Amino acid sequence: MHDVDENLIRAKLPQRLAGLEELAYNLWWSWHRSSRDMFKQLDRTLWKTTRHNPVRILLEVPQERLDMLAKDPSFLRIYDAVLLEFKRDIINGHHWYSRTHPELGEHQIAYVSAEFGLHTSLPIYSGGLGVLSGDHTKEASDLGLPFIAIGFLYEQGYFRQRLDPSGWQEAIYPPLNPQEVALRAKVCKEGTENHAVTLRIGDRDIQLCVWEVHVGRTRLYLMDTDIEVNAPWDRELTARLYGGDQEMRLQQEILLGIGGVYIMRALGLKPKVWHINEGHAAFLVLERLREYVSQGMSIEEAKKRVKAATIFTTHTPVPAGHDAFPFGLMDKYFHDFWPQMGLNREEFLALGSYNSGYGEAFNMTKLALLMSGHANGVSELHGEVSREMWQNLFECEKVKEVPIGHVTNGVHLSSWTGEAMHRLYRRSISPDWVEHQDEPILWERLEEVSDKKLWDAHMHLKRKMFATMRERAREDRITRATPPEQLLVSGIFLDPEALVIGFSRRFATYKRANLIFRNIERLLELVHDPYRPVQFLFAGKAHPADDPGKRLLQEVYNWARNPEVGGRIAFIEDYDMHVSRYLVQGVDVWLNTPRKPMEASGTSGMKAAFNGVPNLSILDGWWAEAYNGRNGWAIISEKEHYDTLEALDDADANALYRVLEEEVVPLFYQRDRDDVPRGWVATMREAIRTVGPYFSTRRMVKEYAEKYYVPALLDVLALDTE
Ligand SMILES: *Cc1c(COP(=O)(O)O)cnc(C)c1O
Repeated sequence: MHDVDENLIRAKLPQRLAGLEELAYNLWWSWHRSSRDMFKQLDRTLWKTTRHNPVRILLEVPQERLDMLAKDPSFLRIYDAVLLEFKRDIINGHHWYSRTHPELGEHQIAYVSAEFGLHTSLPIYSGGLGVLSGDHTKEASDLGLPFIAIGFLYEQGYFRQRLDPSGWQEAIYPPLNPQEVALRAKVCKEGTENHAVTLRIGDRDIQLCVWEVHVGRTRLYLMDTDIEVNAPWDRELTARLYGGDQEMRLQQEILLGIGGVYIMRALGLKPKVWHINEGHAAFLVLERLREYVSQGMSIEEAKKRVKAATIFTTHTPVPAGHDAFPFGLMDKYFHDFWPQMGLNREEFLALGSYNSGYGEAFNMTKLALLMSGHANGVSELHGEVSREMWQNLFECEKVKEVPIGHVTNGVHLSSWTGEAMHRLYRRSISPDWVEHQDEPILWERLEEVSDKKLWDAHMHLKRKMFATMRERAREDRITRATPPEQLLVSGIFLDPEALVIGFSRRFATYKRANLIFRNIERLLELVHDPYRPVQFLFAGKAHPADDPGKRLLQEVYNWARNPEVGGRIAFIEDYDMHVSRYLVQGVDVWLNTPRKPMEASGTSGMKAAFNGVPNLSILDGWWAEAYNGRNGWAIISEKEHYDTLEALDDADANALYRVLEEEVVPLFYQRDRDDVPRGWVATMREAIRTVGPYFSTRRMVKEYAEKYYVPALLDVLALDTE
């Protein structure tokens, strides 16, 4: 662990601009326009080269520039306004939660997740799950929940993607320099008195450091084992996200679940309820049981209390996606833990023992489900699938009695809305649309926004995406001497006036990135139509250990550079939150082709829709709830069931071609004299109107609060006074 020298920036800042430090170190800036604009104005070049990272901007900006800005009345006016807005929001905020539940304001809610996608500069997320945790945390701040988030600081984060000339994915792990991001050492600054937290893992003691991230009013605490006193293999524990073998993973999960409780104690924090985001963090219930038992409580009473206080969200309908550990490994790491819970080996293993078809193992989802008073899936459909999947754990005759509900995912709108759309909403809908975003009536006002205005805002974002794409290609050409053939794939041949269909997501086989290539003749006809060409923009990573996923990616890549395609299909390397922002705002249609019902929810399509980019998707996950026949397109094949995957994929591909040929393409190219596609704009408008108020974290976090957090708090408080 490197030590963060916070004084570096402090020493540099003129007194008049001293507040910039706090602004840079609170990710609040990332979802507030005024603050983003201020950092951009501070130094436009650095804003770009640091990929929007204010901490690095302040470290790198020349002293003279700061001294000059400290005397520049127009910059000072902006700075003062931002600082005022920040303080008002953080300190004096009159927030939803404190208004609705004034009596509960003191009782903290802990949220534990293996990944958090808050900003590109902090690469401690891999994909959807992490971005959801990040969005949840930002919204908890906006709504004023007494919320504490807990996760890991991965020193190498998730990998950066590079494709070799054959399209094979290579993983690069650039080390994170904590000096250069919005992190502050909380526990165990090296060379200070601040001691580390000691955690026993199996037969050895590990020292944990804790970093603090300010996310608006909310705090995120990140555990880190990369310190001198730890053995080299223990320092590796928090090096990478989902790296290593099963034993490494077990140790990571002990660290996350049990360590998560330890660091709360070390920081003097006393959360009343605990939200486990996906099974990775489920061991926290074991530590909570152990705590109660060691205080003299019976295990039955302890279970009652832990259950009352625990909320669990499951995220995948794919059986292999649920972590399970062999009993041998559990013995090795827990043999002196279960006696402390007052349990013998059998009783302990029974908490998680489960056979999901690969033999008996300790299943993290079972543990979490049985020890949580509230459990949920992440869309209506996923709730149903989860109830079926886990029915045998519960004594329920009917599937619908299984105690797993659902809260459909959402996205943090102010983080994902393109500037042009934001401006349009502010002017035409309401200056404080962000405040009232979940009031459907507000979005009815879209009717009054002219077709031309909405279309222009979209085209502005589309051109911005094109500019970014070209700039990246140019940079790669310089820094990596990209061969010309590979440049072709980078999107520089795409036409900004023609239809662009975006597909960006993890390259897992069930997501079927190659579905569109099932019938090449039909695809090429679409692509080469001289009057109405169709273009595709792909992006996404395969898990570094997933070779079938990497082959799928290679297949798409090879089509992209195939001369037959003529440069109308592009692949953007290194999909992350930064790239994602441009894509969801800049393409014309958002395509999603999972094998139903494998997509638990999906969220990227929500980001797109709210930016006026309609979805074209299988009716799976969130889209099954959102689709209304007018706000985008559904890919529906003729039959409900097919006997083989081959047959299913063929049918879905045919349905996809049909919708493209008969509906999407004609509508997009049907133009009025002023070149505005009226019918298309109507679909855009309907997408924004239907998705904005419901598929946001505003609705989602309020739902978690009302359905789970508040009832759990009331139960816990009642138990406390018993
Ligand atoms: C929103 C987002 C996701 C989630 O995408 P889905 O494919 O809809 O699950 C994944 N990765 C990044 C970088 C995102 O921004």
